[in-house]
Amino acid sequence: MGDLDQPKVCTATVPVARIEHKCCECGRTISPGTQYYHLKALWDDSWGTFKWCNQCDAVMGAIDHEFEFGRLVEYAADAEMIDEESLQELQELGDRLVQEDGDGRRI
Ligand SMILES: [Zn+2]
Repeated sequence: MGDLDQPKVCTATVPVARIEHKCCECGRTISPGTQYYHLKALWDDSWGTFKWCNQCDAVMGAIDHEFEFGRLVEYAADAEMIDEESLQELQELGDRLVQEDGDGRRI
């Protein structure tokens, strides 16, 4: 088997939501008009699409090692940034990080 960890093709964009999306990490709703993160990647022969919110992006930035998409809550708990693997705690952590970062607009 090949190396499954590194996608062959990877495209990341930061669009503004036109319809509601759901964050793949913390599960919160990304409302229309909100900027979010969109990544499309090709692993072997299958495409994966991930959408995540500004708050989760701040959490990703605070975790200083690689992680797998869709498992941010586990990694945040491993890094002892949150007390347990709880999506609510992940959301609250993201909210705090974005607030500390100014108003959260990094781009
Ligand atoms: Zn999120």
